[in-house]
Amino acid sequence: MGIIEKMRLDGKKIFVTGGARGIGKSVATAFCEAGADVAIVDLDFEEAEKTAAELEKNHGIQAIAIKADVTNPEDVDSMITKILSAFGRLDVAFCNAGICMNIPAEDMTYEQWKKVIDINLTGVFLTAQAAGKVMLKQGGGSIINTASMSAHIVNVPQPQCSYNASKAGVIQLTKSLAVEWATRNVRVNCISPGYIGTELTLNSPSLQPLIEQWNQMAPLGRMGRPEELQSICVYLAGDTSSFTTGADFVVDGAFTCI
Ligand code: NDP
Repeated sequence: MGIIEKMRLDGKKIFVTGGARGIGKSVATAFCEAGADVAIVDLDFEEAEKTAAELEKNHGIQAIAIKADVTNPEDVDSMITKILSAFGRLDVAFCNAGICMNIPAEDMTYEQWKKVIDINLTGVFLTAQAAGKVMLKQGGGSIINTASMSAHIVNVPQPQCSYNASKAGVIQLTKSLAVEWATRNVRVNCISPGYIGTELTLNSPSLQPLIEQWNQMAPLGRMGRPEELQSICVYLAGDTSSFTTGADFVVDGAFTCI
């Protein structure tokens, strides 16, 4: 079998949090193109259902929609129950849901700080932990977390200290889980995207005026597109990445090099 065939994901069962739109939807699409069945997990159930229906129609795989708040342990437990009852197993988890708040550190309330840390860091822990428990029992699996280039640099000019701290936490959490579970065949990696054109960035009125500035700073002179994160995630989900664990993949058009 050639390398491209080996990278396919036929029959793998995958969940994607924040899968209804943006990076999650794009990567879920790639998983389906590669032959996997997916659970689209999101707060926005209506949008998750639309995405799942579109994936089933276009790719002839099984796609289900699940409403869950990744910060709520009961939601995460029930998400796993639904996935196991639909698919019978879980091979890959893409723990991707996240938000950003641009607020000067001195003005940030406790609630605002906690919301970002809860979704971006605790949410990744809860969903990766739940996936890990299933995968350890099964004898293996692959977990991919979404960190950010903001784990490596401090973005300017917008103030986003809670986001930057949460994403740095995701990288160290990823490495910690990778080491704990390495001998039991559960791999844990993360991706660190640069600015990517999604609702998070393009539809935020406060960020609109900044996009031109970011593009001027960017070595490639532009933001990334969600589909430019697809192939790294398909690689990490599949069996050809069997020696890859505890790694962080920066996909940022060299933004963090400057
Ligand atoms: P989007 O805002 O386009 O999509 C995020 C999705 O996550 C939304 O559907 C949202 O639902 C869902 N979500 C938010 N909170 C929760 C929650 N508590 N439980 C379940 N689902 C939730 O964002 P992106 O696709 O741009 O971002 C995806 C990930 O990539 C995030 O972790 C982000 O930090 C990271 N990232 C993004 C970059 C970018 O430039 N876009 C750069 C680097 C990293 P709802 O609409 O209901 O809120």
